[in-house]
Amino acid sequence: MAKIRIYQLAKELEMSNDELLKILDDMGVTYKSHASTLEEDTALAVKELIGEQKVAEAARKAEEARKSIPHRPPVVVIMGHVDHGKTSLLDYLRKSRIAEKEAGGITQHVGAFEVKTPGGTVVFIDTPGHEAFTTIRQRGAKVADIAVIVIAATEGVMPQTKEAIAHAKASGAKIIFAANKMDLPGADINKVYQDLMQLGLVPVAYGGDVEVLPISAKTGQGVADLLETILLMAELEDLRADPKAEAQGVILEARVDKQAGVLASLLVQQGTLRIGDYVVAGECWGKIKAMSDAEGNRRTEAGPGSAVQVLGFSELPSAGDTFTWVPDQVAAKEITEERIEERKASEARGDLQRARSLADLMR
Ligand code: GDP
Ligand code: MG
Repeated sequence: MAKIRIYQLAKELEMSNDELLKILDDMGVTYKSHASTLEEDTALAVKELIGEQKVAEAARKAEEARKSIPHRPPVVVIMGHVDHGKTSLLDYLRKSRIAEKEAGGITQHVGAFEVKTPGGTVVFIDTPGHEAFTTIRQRGAKVADIAVIVIAATEGVMPQTKEAIAHAKASGAKIIFAANKMDLPGADINKVYQDLMQLGLVPVAYGGDVEVLPISAKTGQGVADLLETILLMAELEDLRADPKAEAQGVILEARVDKQAGVLASLLVQQGTLRIGDYVVAGECWGKIKAMSDAEGNRRTEAGPGSAVQVLGFSELPSAGDTFTWVPDQVAAKEITEERIEERKASEARGDLQRARSLADLMR
């Protein structure tokens, strides 16, 4: 690049002469007027500076856009070895929640429930824990932000504890351990710490960063601390979801009710789902006819972090399928038909491959 006049450079950089003159002033460059020529080095330096400013501005705007999206509650799944207290912990959390409501309040199983604490809300998945989470994960949906892995302090780490750790890690969920049954005389939290150390997980108590909270799902001891730790972890994760986006989430459970038809429980992860919306989930589609929440309330809409039971799917969706909003029935049908065809085509290809490899073996 040769010498260039200030007004030419301003034009090139899509800025006014005054803006450029101001930048030159800041850089300590002297000039007579906007018709003055700049040395090649100076022009290059200006361009570089403008480039950097643009990048910084874009980053600032992106960060601002992200910050304008509201926080959402963390979604938690409880896992662990059989009999270590998953169901008891969920029951305790559910009870403490219900106790806050006026007596006689009906609750309904919708696959997840909220626990409200002074520090924030936590959503617990309660589609029978481990198995459901595994199915959901295998189908590719990410549902839980945090996995609470329950370990009975009377027993320590067992085979399914290790499985749970593997599943949680593979799903990208953060892990918190709850050393349960601390009310029992045989409970030994040091055994839990040592077992975790054996797996290369160093508890906070031993100077590491693995959270291990002593609790009793029976007495409720330590459960408030557990909730607080979940919320602290969620804060670090800076979980956000845009309620104005197109609704998207995951199917938690689905069944056919003889009278009502297909009942699906789903968790809204982004956007707001409304009565009348069309959605697709795997190879099924639906028009949301009715929604109800864990309190048994009828809902007209459900935002991020809400679990609701919905009526309106044409067929039974699979747990773990992602559901997404679509504009209308035409789109819903087209997308699901395409998916069915794609699956059939890939099945056919799979069959061919198998036939070929079998042929290979017989060579
Ligand atoms: P899950 O198989 O992991 O769902 O375990 P459960 O919640 O069904 O608990 C298994 C058994 O342990 C049940 O008899 C519970 O009553 C008991 N249990 C669970 N948590 C505690 C606890 O904190 N203290 C005591 N004493 N018993 C517990
Ligand atoms: Mg259980």
